[in-house]
Amino acid sequence: MYIGLTSTFHDLMEGYFAPANATAARLPKLLNFNYKFGEFLGIAVAKNEERELATMLLGQGLSQSVNPIALPYAGHQFGHFSPQLGDGRALLLGEIVAPDGARFDIQLKGSGPTPFSRGGDGKAAMGPVLREYLVSEAMAAMGVPTTRSLAAVATGDVVQRDRAHPGAVLTRVASSHIRVGTFQFFAAHFGVDHVVKLSNYTIWRHWPELAEAPNPHLAMLDRVIGLQCELIAHWMGVGFIHGVMNTDNVAVSGETLDYGPCAFMDRFAANTVFSSIDTHGRYAYGRQPQIMHWNMARFAEALLPAIHSVSPDDVEAAKALVDAIPARFRAHWDSRMRAKLGLAEGGADDRALVDDLFAELEMHSVDFTSFFRALAMLLRGDGARLEQLLPTPDAMAPWVARWWEHIESDGVSPLVRADTMDAVNPLYIPRNHIIEPALEAAEAGDMGPWRELLAVVQQPFVERPGLERFAEPGAIDAAPYRTFCGT
Ligand code: AMP
Ligand code: MG
Repeated sequence: MYIGLTSTFHDLMEGYFAPANATAARLPKLLNFNYKFGEFLGIAVAKNEERELATMLLGQGLSQSVNPIALPYAGHQFGHFSPQLGDGRALLLGEIVAPDGARFDIQLKGSGPTPFSRGGDGKAAMGPVLREYLVSEAMAAMGVPTTRSLAAVATGDVVQRDRAHPGAVLTRVASSHIRVGTFQFFAAHFGVDHVVKLSNYTIWRHWPELAEAPNPHLAMLDRVIGLQCELIAHWMGVGFIHGVMNTDNVAVSGETLDYGPCAFMDRFAANTVFSSIDTHGRYAYGRQPQIMHWNMARFAEALLPAIHSVSPDDVEAAKALVDAIPARFRAHWDSRMRAKLGLAEGGADDRALVDDLFAELEMHSVDFTSFFRALAMLLRGDGARLEQLLPTPDAMAPWVARWWEHIESDGVSPLVRADTMDAVNPLYIPRNHIIEPALEAAEAGDMGPWRELLAVVQQPFVERPGLERFAEPGAIDAAPYRTFCGT
């Protein structure tokens, strides 16, 4: 078996990374391999090559031409700047060019300490590895830009956290691992020439057409802001709470990065927080647009020397781009919510309808995911699903009547409309109360429930008989769900 890896970051960005190697593992065992995504990447694996694959995906026995590295980065964590962070438990093996020409990083997460581990063990426990695999693949299936999961491999070693857990390594695939924090690292430690170098590399890697812009760095700021506005609107449209939107966890590619304490909301409440360390709700569901705005202001700051180096006048343009973020986000949010509600683009006073919806959902503690599917059922003449979600059958009757008026005003048949709504409103998401038992079973040696759940969320929009329990919210009186950083 051969996986062709190159490394443009290694070859072009000499001096900005640290060579590192994976720690040997006792008993490599493939927990899961993403054959479909592997095929997309051009990696063909025969069943009898799984042992070799497992060893390789623990970073062992790599060919001489592979140069694993760990990347440094800085970042604002909960608003406070750390000038020196980095891949403390991740190894960038290299890049793979898919048959369609797209370039991806192949990174091992949990493969042992690196020069940036700051005393950490560099390892990952099986539960969080499988959690990231599941949630990232669910996000991909929903069409949300995200890093992907190619494989999860057990190490056969024990990882000490709250107790001893079996260890594992995730193979994470990203269009790059360049973070806002990577730019902050360059800006904090080196001069403007280095920021320009990183910016040029990023442009070459992601948006080569921007190299032709009058000020490529400004054009990149514009692009990254646009992608973040779209991403956060997408997250919120599926009830996703990232949980730790520190600048080091923001990929400039616009992909969702770092699935530590993230989770999906069941019953709607704008201030929902799952992360055990987010005690002030900085990264609550409803704050994500403001935090994205703040993060993009930090990105602009880091890029400013590069922007200025091309044209001092463009500093004002950069400020204007940052100031325009709330309006730009709102435009993405409006269009996403219109799609979710089956409304035509550009309908009059849709905004009030959307804003009032969130007040209603919160007041009646409605399951966010189920609500949009129930609305589509209403268009098919079945009101029972909506009634079941509400404390009293007519609790949302005035809002639903307004929505009907909007729907009727643009003349598309209700049945067609219901289908287009179902195509953007997932029915199956990785719900917290369903993930947890699947992870516990996996750590105890039974991958069955995890595999079953993966298969369910990989097809999030298509209702299938027998899967009803996967679409149900958790018990209303359950203890608050808590998530943790780190794998
Ligand atoms: P994260 O929570 O994934 O955003 O990680 C924050 C920082 O801590 C990153 O720089 C990680 O590389 C580092 N880190 C997290 N867990 C470990 C660990 N077990 N060993 C070493 N570094 C870690
Ligand atoms: Mg991180």
